[in-house]
Amino acid sequence: MSDTACAKCAFFEDHATNTGSTAESEGLCRFNPPVSQPQADSRGLWPVVSPQDWCGHFEREAA
Ligand code: SF4
Repeated sequence: MSDTACAKCAFFEDHATNTGSTAESEGLCRFNPPVSQPQADSRGLWPVVSPQDWCGHFEREAA
């Protein structure tokens, strides 16, 4: 796994989903606000990422 993988990022919420259920092998990226609100009365969604994903906004978790 990369040293800059989501699993090691301060913005990764492990095992979380947009529906409040528990995910085995994915989580939510909390770097940005929820996105893609399809209709005015529906909720925006947090991006779902895997622990092995990565991006340029990576920030290491505090020790
Ligand atoms: S997508 Fe980027 S900012 Fe979000 S958890 Fe992964 S590395 Fe961190």
